[in-house]
Parts: sequence; structure tokens; C-alpha cells
Amino acid sequence: QSQRALNFGAGPGMLPVEVLEQAQKELLNFKGTGKSIMELSHRGKEFETVLEDAKNDLRTLLTIPKEYDILFLQGGASSLFAGIPMNLCKDENDVVDYIVTGSWSKSAFQEGKLYCKANKVVDMEPQKFHTVLPAQEWKFSEHPAYIQYCDNETIHGIEFPGDDITSVLSSKGVPIVCDMSSNFLSRSVDISRYDLVFAGAQKNAGISGITIVIIKNTLLSKTKSNVPSVFNFSKKSQMNSLDNTPPTFNIYVTGLILKWIIKQGGIKEMERRNKIKADTLYSFIDNSNGFYTCKIDPKYRSKMNVVFRIKDNPELEDKFAKEAEKHNITDIKGHRSVGGLRASLYNAVTIDATNQLVSFMDKFMKENQ
Ligand code: PMP
Repeated sequence: QSQRALNFGAGPGMLPVEVLEQAQKELLNFKGTGKSIMELSHRGKEFETVLEDAKNDLRTLLTIPKEYDILFLQGGASSLFAGIPMNLCKDENDVVDYIVTGSWSKSAFQEGKLYCKANKVVDMEPQKFHTVLPAQEWKFSEHPAYIQYCDNETIHGIEFPGDDITSVLSSKGVPIVCDMSSNFLSRSVDISRYDLVFAGAQKNAGISGITIVIIKNTLLSKTKSNVPSVFNFSKKSQMNSLDNTPPTFNIYVTGLILKWIIKQGGIKEMERRNKIKADTLYSFIDNSNGFYTCKIDPKYRSKMNVVFRIKDNPELEDKFAKEAEKHNITDIKGHRSVGGLRASLYNAVTIDATNQLVSFMDKFMKENQ
């Protein structure tokens, strides 16, 4: 394990080493079948168990009420930017309210425009996505089909604290749709406050190629029928995500991760560790006398993706990233669209790895002041 990089990448991100070892151990012969999980039929009893375990473990971990179904889809979280309006809007005249707090909610809004009348309830781009205006200033439309927002903006490092935002949204009396791709399984969440939660797996829940959808049955019954089968939520639900060949290896890896989280102590334990990691890093940044800066409003700072700058100086940031590599610290550069630096602190990134990052940052500051 000493050779494993301290990977602060935003996704595909770091996976728990125990999960990789288990996958390695089972790779050639899955549970005595003489075949790898990748070579097993999705209709066989072994895969059936993998799928049912993954669903049950996710239900247990997030205390998902029985009125919700869990779907495993393909196409990435981006496919849902189209898939959701395709399923939930009667036609392209339906209005959908989007809360735009960063790149991903902006992409969802733009894609939504192809399928509905997309309305921006609030657009934080003029403020460079550094904060969120108070909800009293948001402009909801009269009768939206649903409201969509992104709980954690991976690129801009901005996250809604807890489930409180849903209190504002639920007063509108329409379904609440949430993109939780990059903070899924990082904190406890009250699923009953949402109608649809979706997440690409490649941060805290597995590897790219699978998207998890948690959807309320009442919403399932409202989905439109003339939606292509691969996107059709109610068909997927009726067929237990097995109407066509699902990404079996990906579901298997998600299953291993869910069991790993349970073994570690569940979501509460993930939340505890994630708070320690984020607090450690932000407080170091804030106490660096302006050498490191994080411009995100402290109320909305992401616990998963910590974005920061070094004196707004791209050359110094390049030097930082290069020297970090020599200390086994990788994937620390900000998204190409925003520059700067970003440390993603997903569940598999340990408190110890975060402390090592902070030690390196301290050393770098002393040498480059
Ligand atoms: N939403 C968020 C919050 C994301 O971080 C990402 C990917 N980083 C996406 C959506 C898009 O996911 P995908 O690449 O799986 O389509």
C-alpha cells in the first residue's frame, strides 16, 4: 500500500484499497464459479445476489424508505440531465426550475433546454459561483414540473449544507430532483425529503459507467411512456434494472464499496471523517496569512472538493502541483475551466492522507513565501 498514490482527484477518484484487493482476489474465480464476475451472466444467480445485495445495502446505509426504488443506469450522471426531463415532463412546454450554483447545474440547465422550458431560479455565475444568494431572492416559476439542483458542485467546490434547502423547495409543492454525484454517501441524507436523487458512481460509490437513481414510486408512476427504454425509469424499475445488460462489473464494485462503508461504521462514520478532513484543510488555508486562499463563502464550502489558490499565481500553483507529485500527492490541480488547485476528499481519502497534504502545503508555503 505504500506505493499507492495519495490521490486527491475529483473523479474517477480514489477507491478504498480493501475494495481493490477484494476485487483482485475474486477476479479470476468469483465465488467458486471458475469465472470472473465480468464473465457471468446478468441473469444468473450469482449476479442476482450481487445486485440484490447492492440494493439492500444502499437502502440500509441511507435508510431509503420503502416508497422509493433504486435504479442502476448507464450513460453517466450527464445522461440524466436529459433523462430526467424526458421522463418527467409531459412535453417541451413543461417548465423546469433549475438552481444554478456551478458548472454541473449549469450543464443540467442547458441540456434541459432541449426537452423543456428551463427556467433559472437563481444563477450564481455572475458571482463566479463563490456563494449562493438567499433563497428569498430566488425566482421560482408558477407551475414547474419539478425543481432541480446540484447538492455539491465538484468543479467550483460549493455544497449546500445538509438537507435544509429542501425545506424551501418543498414549499413549492412539486417534486425535488437532486444531483448528488460528488457528495453521495459522504453525509447522512434524509431521502424522504427528495423525489429523485441521482449520482454518477465514480466519486464515493464506485467506478465510472454507472449512475444510481433513487426515485419515489409516486414519481415513477408519472413517468412518460414514450421514452427510450434505456432511459425509461418505470421500465427500469419494473425490470429491476435488468431490461438490458447492466454494467455488471460496475455494480459489483459499488456493492463492494457499500459493504466497505458498512464495515467502517456506516454513513455517520463517513460524515465524521469527512468533517475532520475538510475542517483540517480549510482551517489550514484560512490560517496561512493569505498564502493559500479559498474564495468560497464559508457557509457553502464543499467537504468533498476543496478549491484553493496560491496568491492567484498560476506559476506558483503549477510548481505546487509538480512538487506535490514528488511527495506522492497527485491530481491536485483545479478543473481546467477554473484553474487553481483542488483537493477532493472523498470517502477513500483518509484523515492521514489529508494530514500529509497539509504538511506538504506547510512546507511549500515556508519555502515559497
Ligand atoms: N454532476 C456532478 C456533480 C459531477 O461532478 C459530474 C461529473 N464530475 C457529473 C454530474 C457528470 O457525470 P458523468 O461524467 O458521469 O456524466
